[in-house]
Amino acid sequence: MIIAIDGPSGAGKSTLGKMLAKELGLLYLDTGAMYRAVGLAVLEASVDEENEEIVVEFAQKAKIELVGEPENLQVLLNGTDVSTEIRSAQVGQLASIVSTISDVRKILVEHQRRLGENAPKGCVLDGRDIGTVVFPNADVKFFLTAKPEARAQRRFKEDLQKGRTTTFEQTLEEINQRDERDVSRADSPLMIAEDAIVIDTSEMDLTEVFEQMVRVVRERQKMNYETS
Ligand code: C5P
Repeated sequence: MIIAIDGPSGAGKSTLGKMLAKELGLLYLDTGAMYRAVGLAVLEASVDEENEEIVVEFAQKAKIELVGEPENLQVLLNGTDVSTEIRSAQVGQLASIVSTISDVRKILVEHQRRLGENAPKGCVLDGRDIGTVVFPNADVKFFLTAKPEARAQRRFKEDLQKGRTTTFEQTLEEINQRDERDVSRADSPLMIAEDAIVIDTSEMDLTEVFEQMVRVVRERQKMNYETS
């Protein structure tokens, strides 16, 4: 079973993706972490992120691995654990810049498909293009969204908990910038797949959203079973 979760930054995709993967015993793939790993590789090498040729070379050479259980997933870049480093706002912005390069997307999409197809029981993937490009035939597609202020508020809280110094205004601006880049890029812009179930999480708590998602998946599993 393949479950696609798409949507803008801070809508709760990764938290809910992890919860769903755990509940259903599926692999969890944070595809944003892969773009972030490429962004970090570029940053560490002091490469100009606008130089597409070099960035593609980095994406090709980078060995990106996601290991461990969904709740404590580790992201390895060339064998080094970079789970913390990739979460900085700077790496987030770089990820959003390198993700506009078609050849970078090609490399990562291929990697994502391979991992998803080889997962014994199936996979939950979260990103921006999962239901539209990576797995257009996914069994279930969710599009999670929320008002920009609600998303920025969540991200801001997380940042404070992690000890990062930032302001709400700064977080909101960063989220808006990334959203704008994601919806306006030429290759695989953030779009709602025709058959996606859209959930606006602005006014919902996590448990409510989770329960709704589990219900949808169980119904789909039942339908698949009955028609097979
Ligand atoms: O999900 P996260 O915020 O960690 O993703 C970082 C960036 O990677 C996003 O802002 C987006 O530009 C890019 N991304 C993407 N396609 C995906 C996942 C992430 O373009 N499937």
